Amino acid sequence: MKAGVIAVQGDVAEHAAAVRNAAAAHDESAEVVEIREAGIVPDCDVLLMPGGESTTISRLIRREGIAAEIEAHAASGKPILATCAGLIVCATDAKDDRVEPLGLLDVSVDRNAFGRQKDSFEAKVPVSELDDPFHAVFIRAPAIDEVGDGVETLASVDGRPVAVRDGPVVATAFHPELTDDSRIHDLAFFPEREVVA
Ligand code: GLN
Repeated sequence: MKAGVIAVQGDVAEHAAAVRNAAAAHDESAEVVEIREAGIVPDCDVLLMPGGESTTISRLIRREGIAAEIEAHAASGKPILATCAGLIVCATDAKDDRVEPLGLLDVSVDRNAFGRQKDSFEAKVPVSELDDPFHAVFIRAPAIDEVGDGVETLASVDGRPVAVRDGPVVATAFHPELTDDSRIHDLAFFPEREVVA
């Protein structure tokens, strides 16, 4: 499996490790490539959109011609995992003119909603597709405030969705790459495959 991490800005190495772990659980190996320019996304089977700063990421992916390639990837039904700022960039509405979102995920987001209350926090969050709660790390996290009809909410905190699935796109307001637990990468990239024991 070839996994591309959008690496214009944000945390890259941690996502690379998590996708390798998720693949290993399925007896597969993942080749991870960092994407800073156009021309690489079309070769990728899955994509990761990391956290960081959504205004910067959205500006750079458009300037480099990567945005259109990400849109084509999603349109062909190939998986994307978007985390934190990545979620904001993939949303239909970021409610902020400085972000030009890709509209791959039918949600509207409030960019720093959790961050305004508390800059960062951690919580054990039950996730509908996982047997045990996920230890979620939130850093200046966005809140998802509206979800479209086709969007499945996988997890919520204080009644607000923090993990969602919209077709090929799984997105989290938290940072699943910051723990050793690769189950979120697993449910994004291996949605229908059994874990090899
Ligand atoms: N709230 C930040 C933004 O708007 C995202 C924070 C993060 O990715 N940890 O870009």
